[in-house]
Amino acid sequence: MLNYSHALQLNSIPYKVGALARAGFKSMSIRLYCGWPRLPQGEPVQGGTMGKSVLIIGAGIAGLAAGSYLQRNGFTTHIFDQHTLPGGLCTAWERQGYRFDGCIHWLMGSSPRSNMHHIWRELGAGELNYLEWDIFTVIKLSDGDRFTVYTDPDRFEAELSRLAGPDDSPLIKSIAAAIRNMSRFDLPAAWDKLTLPEAARILFALPGALPIFGTWMKLPIASLLARIASPKLREALSGLYSGDMGDFPVAGLFMMLGFMSKKSCGYPLGGSSAFARSIEKKYLSLGGSISYGFRVDRILVENGKAVGIAGEKGELRGDLVISAADAHDTVERLLGGRYRSPGLDKAFASFRRFPSLLLLGLGLKGDFSSYPHSYSFPLKQPLVLEGGELTLLGMGIRFFSFDPGAAPAGKTAAMVMISTTNDSWWTELRARDRSAYDAAKEESKRRIIAALDSELPGIASAVEYSDLSTPATLIRYTNNWHGSYEGWLPTIKTMGAKLPRTLDGLAGFYMLGQWLNPGGGLPPCGIDGRRLAKRLCQAEGRSFRADA
Ligand SMILES: Cc1cc2nc3c(=O)[nH]c(=O)nc-3n(C[C@H](O)[C@H](O)[C@H](O)COP(=O)(O)OP(=O)(O)OC[C@H]3O[C@@H](n4cnc5c(N)ncnc54)[C@H](O)[C@@H]3O)c2cc1C
Repeated sequence: MLNYSHALQLNSIPYKVGALARAGFKSMSIRLYCGWPRLPQGEPVQGGTMGKSVLIIGAGIAGLAAGSYLQRNGFTTHIFDQHTLPGGLCTAWERQGYRFDGCIHWLMGSSPRSNMHHIWRELGAGELNYLEWDIFTVIKLSDGDRFTVYTDPDRFEAELSRLAGPDDSPLIKSIAAAIRNMSRFDLPAAWDKLTLPEAARILFALPGALPIFGTWMKLPIASLLARIASPKLREALSGLYSGDMGDFPVAGLFMMLGFMSKKSCGYPLGGSSAFARSIEKKYLSLGGSISYGFRVDRILVENGKAVGIAGEKGELRGDLVISAADAHDTVERLLGGRYRSPGLDKAFASFRRFPSLLLLGLGLKGDFSSYPHSYSFPLKQPLVLEGGELTLLGMGIRFFSFDPGAAPAGKTAAMVMISTTNDSWWTELRARDRSAYDAAKEESKRRIIAALDSELPGIASAVEYSDLSTPATLIRYTNNWHGSYEGWLPTIKTMGAKLPRTLDGLAGFYMLGQWLNPGGGLPPCGIDGRRLAKRLCQAEGRSFRADA
């Protein structure tokens, strides 16, 4: 199971009561109910001398970021999360000494070489050590050759040339040039923190970066692949995307590789949970408070204004309500579909979602550090899962040998990530027949491990622990629509699309997070939280401060 820790649930009670008291909720009588602070019905959250009180739904990175920036600007915030941990999708879970990381592969802004880093530092994640990749991934091709995705543009260009024929030479040169240009350029996330050297660097690199936001932004990856003459190079580059991402703008690939090349797109040692915990810690240190295990079922509205939230654990009132939870659930269930916006309705009806996932964590006896940290390969036999509804022709594995805390000494944590859109197959099976669901998980594990062993002989006998998270797990622990792991798929049409943060006819209410930013990911969550706090400061007529 993903992220469930009974011990943590019990241990966290004193902390939560203390956090509420620290935040000035003194008038509230705290009673314990099923191990959680029970909030009295209709109790108002006191803004008091601290300014407006804000209730935030969701302790994912977006909710924590909004809370963190609002706290340092005089608002009194309280976050509610249905789960027992911070981070939402940005998470990892520990089992028998192994840490299975369910999120970060690459984090834009991991080093000060990108302006985005200001935001991670402000949020408390600047203290972590980040590992920057020299090799992003290795993809085995059908002829047995291996395509190594180097993050150095010169090596990447040489690798593409090695796989291609001379006809592809001009295209390879323009791909490498675009990555180099993107590496020199930056996307200012915190304009107010732009230093003079940063601004000069951006201006200098602008002419080279413009085609990325023009030509390459309009070119879907499928069209780029169609332009490639060499079938081998085409196979290699298509290995960077899953089949349903043909409409992904090529510019997105160049941005990622550009940020990797400038060494600001790495992995936080300690993993996704350390990243989320560092942001939670900063938020709490600013006086914010969190109620975990509190599922919000309703947003209270009076006279066209959001005035509070309600769930089984109680009802709370505040001056403003922010939902950093799943957007579809917020609009349809928490607000009963009564408040809408044409922009969001269009997205719900026509944007495509990132799929859900099967995430298999493997605890391996032995040292696998000689393997690439990320490796994918074609399967010798198709892998059939989900009662025949999912057939895979290839798969990938991540070995976490690069993170010493991920496994006991001499052992290795590994993760297999398999996309699926059959979330209902898992949720319905779990609801209908729990033992059949457990059996399906066991059978899936067995088949996936056997498929791995056919490529990496001996790995099956090294498995001493395995843990499978299904779309049903993902939905239970994060409440994301259809178990999507990153919101809307970025396409030529949706990338950069502006979705509204408010709903028509509803005052005192805002939304943020991955579902408001097509393409999803962690950076938009940090940026969104900062922007929303700025906007609320402006509305209050006060200047915004980002530093604690
Ligand atoms: C396997 C995987 C790999 C990824 N890799 C990367 C990567 O390498 N780089 C990157 O940038 N991004 C990556 N992402 C995407 C990134 O993790 C997400 O886009 C981001 O974390 C979304 O954050 P969020 O705060 O918007 O939403 P969420 O993380 O979904 O947070 C929403 C929170 O709201 C809570 N909630 C929901 N409903 C309620 C309710 N009714 N009441 C109370 N609480 C509620 C949930 O419990 C959750 O904690 C990855 C995601 C996954 C799963």
